[in-house]
Amino acid sequence: MHISTALSRIAPSQTTAMTDRATQLREEGRDVISLSVGEPDFDTPPQVVAAAKAALDAGQTKYTPVGGTSRLKQAAALHFARDLGIEVPASQVTVSAGGKQAIFHAMLATVSEGDEVIVPSPWWVSYPEIIHFAGGKVIPLHTHAKDNFRFTAADLEAQIGPRTQWVMLNSPGNPTGACYPADMLLGIGEVLRHHPRIMVLSDDIYAPINYTGAPHATLANLCPDLADRILTISGVSKSHAMTGFRIGVAAGPEWLIKAMERLQSHSSGNPCSISQAAAVAAFEGPQDFLDAWRERFRVRRDLVVSAINAIPGLSTPTPDGAFYCMVDAAPLMARFEDDKALALHLLEHGVAIVPASAFGGRNGFRISFAADDAKLAEACRRIAGALA
Ligand code: GLU
Repeated sequence: MHISTALSRIAPSQTTAMTDRATQLREEGRDVISLSVGEPDFDTPPQVVAAAKAALDAGQTKYTPVGGTSRLKQAAALHFARDLGIEVPASQVTVSAGGKQAIFHAMLATVSEGDEVIVPSPWWVSYPEIIHFAGGKVIPLHTHAKDNFRFTAADLEAQIGPRTQWVMLNSPGNPTGACYPADMLLGIGEVLRHHPRIMVLSDDIYAPINYTGAPHATLANLCPDLADRILTISGVSKSHAMTGFRIGVAAGPEWLIKAMERLQSHSSGNPCSISQAAAVAAFEGPQDFLDAWRERFRVRRDLVVSAINAIPGLSTPTPDGAFYCMVDAAPLMARFEDDKALALHLLEHGVAIVPASAFGGRNGFRISFAADDAKLAEACRRIAGALA
């Protein structure tokens, strides 16, 4: 009995593993505050829940087209145009079981053994694993807290080689909250014009959660001449507090959308029919509550940033977007074998976070501040106590 070569190249997701561990401890009666997973604690909007119930009552419980119903594809196209400034016909949109599956299928559909994918680090935990599973090579593009975890066009140019096939962009970013303003993306677009073979995966799942006051900037909108080699990922999980529904959407060139659907036809088939009906309601319904949610996240961000920076040995920049802080704990690391040991120590003191090494970083941890204010304040008190 043995696992495949492809599977042996990847490790379990540490974000989900840490969250599962926290859930298990809570079920055993332990008092653990979980700030390990990126999941808004807000209730799913009532119109979305109503649409899911109506779909059930209407018997929408059967297969749909593999890449999503035409109704949802149209609603997603509306979302791409209205919210991201990307005009695409429904034929250039596909729907999957979460943004993660869209990324998985895009990589598996295009990456061959030895192809290189440039990934800014710290990165979202699943990017490198998906690339490794596909047989690709991850080329890290290191970013630093002093630069708000952003790379420049010159940094990108320096990493491009003859085997570069994809560049990953993630703005607002997980796990750092990095946001790329339009002028930086225009510079990146200029580099890409000199490398016509390279594709870009722009993961915009956190687009509405941007605290800079500037409108969301994305490459396919800013550089329409490059749009035929950009795959933009979006969804409803983070924006509309719908993580459990598992709906992600992607917009890109038709050949790639078709390739992803070809793979999906053999992996999962269509995304859940009920969830698709709910996602239509999310995209087509009112969006004004997103401003209020963003403001609540901003208050929580400020609470966590000031509490963490007041703990001796810890520091974090103020993230411009998403709901994560990347905390540096380097001054304390002499006390721990590595940041996994630090994470376990904090778990013992009742706070679940994810070590920076899960994201290609080191000597620190990621806090998700998508939890209520009282829990966040108590978690920061526990972290302070655990490290005192
Ligand atoms: N994307 C979220 C996170 O980073 C959800 C968990 C996951 O899929 O990694 O926490």
